[in-house]
Amino acid sequence: MNLTEKIRRKAGGLGFDLVGFAPADPLPGAQFYARWVALGFAGEMDYLARNMEKRSDPGKLVPGAKTVICLGMNYFQEPPAATSPLRGSVACYARGDDYHDLVKGRLFELWDFIVEEAAGEAVSGRVYVDTAPVLERELGQLAGLGWWGKNTCLINTRKGSYFFLAEIVLDLELEWDEPATDHCGTCTRCLEACPTQAFPEPYVLDASRCIAYLNIELKGPIPPGLRSAMGNWIFGCDICQDVCPWNRKAEAASEPAFRARSGLDPPSLTRLLAMDPEAFNSQFRRSPAKRPKRRGMLRNVAVALGNSGDRRAVPALVEALGDEEPLVRGHAAWALGRLGGEEARLALQEALQGENDKMVVEEISHALETTAKLL
Ligand code: SF4
Ligand code: SF4
Repeated sequence: MNLTEKIRRKAGGLGFDLVGFAPADPLPGAQFYARWVALGFAGEMDYLARNMEKRSDPGKLVPGAKTVICLGMNYFQEPPAATSPLRGSVACYARGDDYHDLVKGRLFELWDFIVEEAAGEAVSGRVYVDTAPVLERELGQLAGLGWWGKNTCLINTRKGSYFFLAEIVLDLELEWDEPATDHCGTCTRCLEACPTQAFPEPYVLDASRCIAYLNIELKGPIPPGLRSAMGNWIFGCDICQDVCPWNRKAEAASEPAFRARSGLDPPSLTRLLAMDPEAFNSQFRRSPAKRPKRRGMLRNVAVALGNSGDRRAVPALVEALGDEEPLVRGHAAWALGRLGGEEARLALQEALQGENDKMVVEEISHALETTAKLL
């Protein structure tokens, strides 16, 4: 068995569901990526515009790089049944424990194996998990893992698209795979299903409209015009993957760390809205969903409650009008305006009297106008 096959087999034994090999050449999609950033589709994710040269050429990451080993690890779990409008949705990849440490640990195990198997040859390389979010999909396509779908996910004909991507860039010449070919055909399900119309055209995502950007990456207020389309998603969004026919055969990941943790299967929105900093830390410690921090998460929860259409959420939202974070108070006000009713209106009027933050005052004023129409 040659070294490429040994690495392939070892990667499978370490829990990687997909493995492929691509040349460490400059990437043909780099211009597309630069145009995507220039068009503003990355929103406030300024970090995506940095290190453009390195992102577009793996050879710039490791001197003398010859090969990129691309790996995929399935994280799919069946979504929990929605039991009430007062429950939220969390993207599949974030319901369990943080994957970075786990995947990186396995990558280093694979790296050690490669160094041992290289039999005395000095090998240099680096491992990456989730550090080049756009170009790693192009690398994955070149390594035969899957094709860049119209929903901009990497899709594998056998495994679908619910997998984490990771790479090892190294200076060993291995046997490269054939690039994957496109199997979207005439399908347009993902483009039609997206609630915020985040695809200006097939294969192009305007991340600034994507729910996963709005509820994870965006630090400030969520644009009011997009809030109602966010439904009950409080972290990420899986809709354009859920509707993809290639995910019909997705099998649950065997890795226990990816199973939904207690309190997120599915989460009670009113419970989350009542979290103080300590409760937030306890619920989201070592979870990918801690990224928006407490203020961003409670903002998302308030929006989801506003979209619930369920006035049982009003007491929890009234409580959140007194939160220390203006971002939370502002979105709680929006939610109360959307739910309407006498209790909501009185609470908004009272909150307006004592509010000093300009953004929150505006949110409350708009909410009062909305409740007046709903009464
Ligand atoms: Fe649209 Fe959700 Fe897909 Fe984002 S993740 S593009 S909001 S369907
Ligand atoms: Fe391609 Fe259809 Fe899947 Fe969209 S839903 S990525 S068009 S196969």
